[in-house]
Amino acid sequence: MERRVRHRFRFDQVCSQMTFRTLDDAPVQGKRVLLRLDLNVPIENGRVSDATRIDRALPTLRDLAAKGARIVVLSHFGRPKNGPDVENSLEPVAAVLAAHLHAPVAFAHDCIGEVAHKAIAALKDGEVLLLENTRFHKGEEKNDPAFVAELAELGDIYVNDAFSAAHRAHASTEGLAHKLPAYAGRGMQAELEALSAALEKPQRPVAAVVGGAKVSSKLDLLGNLSKKVDFLIIGGGMANTFLAAEGKAVGKSLCEKDLLDTARAIVEAARAAKCEIVLPVDVVVAKEFKAHAPSHVVSVDHVGADEMILDLGPKSVARIEELLGVVKTLVWNGPFGAFELQPFDAGTNAVAKVAAGLTDAGKLITVAGGGDTVSALNQAGVGEHFTYISTAGGAFLEWLEGKPLPGVEALK
Ligand code: AMP
Repeated sequence: MERRVRHRFRFDQVCSQMTFRTLDDAPVQGKRVLLRLDLNVPIENGRVSDATRIDRALPTLRDLAAKGARIVVLSHFGRPKNGPDVENSLEPVAAVLAAHLHAPVAFAHDCIGEVAHKAIAALKDGEVLLLENTRFHKGEEKNDPAFVAELAELGDIYVNDAFSAAHRAHASTEGLAHKLPAYAGRGMQAELEALSAALEKPQRPVAAVVGGAKVSSKLDLLGNLSKKVDFLIIGGGMANTFLAAEGKAVGKSLCEKDLLDTARAIVEAARAAKCEIVLPVDVVVAKEFKAHAPSHVVSVDHVGADEMILDLGPKSVARIEELLGVVKTLVWNGPFGAFELQPFDAGTNAVAKVAAGLTDAGKLITVAGGGDTVSALNQAGVGEHFTYISTAGGAFLEWLEGKPLPGVEALK
């Protein structure tokens, strides 16, 4: 779960409608709080190479510490197969967490049993303890009631601040919420408020950008969004399949020919739901899939047999810009073109900058997420200007697909 909240836009109205309890409601003074974080940080040569997830956990840790909670942190780490192994130990993360928190963080070599109980008994109000990787026990991923019960013995209150793990019904992400009084941490709260403002109770009209490589990986997402948004702006490689479904020649472009009927069905369903599908009208084409390959702009009716579509053309960008001036909320997943290869990032960059400007001006709520989307928007330099950017990956995408997230449902 990685995210950033723009304070220019306040989610107050949404907050009052949320159906889960937050730290504002949690009586934590002197209590043992089992805090589920996502500390699954990348480690290279024994060192944490990206501490974003640690930094995102700080508001909740500080809030709980200031209120005098005895904080017991639970997290998974990596994908251990057969019980404990050094490679998947959370121990190196404790020191990094302490450095970022500017406070000591104790570590216990097991997340249940005597080792955990002893370490917790030594905690004073406001102190932090990190327990070893929950996935060292098979009961974690199986959500085994016996393992849940052993975890529950360790605490009085459960706080979940791991939105990025909320699509998994595991013991520490879901099971525990049924055993102890359960609350959303600050990161989880911010994520849920942003997602709610984007699709559940959005200011209308709402537009969604769905870009990226393939239709096949985003079928559920397209189906769900077409029921919820007023405009579905399709870009990237997947737009080629929709253009081909309209009978247009797409040359050597990435195109899923076996999904033309599926694309037509999506268009039909969107029409029935009164959602307007917006496809490119012109595109940038090249003969090679590489940076700085010679390229030119053509109408979508004139793509050559030996050409491939790699980005939006200027008329398409202008049309989307005009649309963004009309809508009040924008949800974004997937780039408009092969953004890793210059200059085929131009369409994504141009639309992203317009969306960022409207956000800064208080005219548009912009919520974006999904792996490549985060890098594409950061590359466009707008990372700080969107209302909210989620890097929760799988959990964010499942939410866009309209699937209930077990870790969130359990908090309700
Ligand atoms: P996704 O992970 O589905 O969001 O897809 C992101 C990937 O789609 C990026 O690696 C882009 O380079 C790629 N992509 C976007 N547009 C195109 C295109 N027109 N042709 C080929 N690849 C594309």
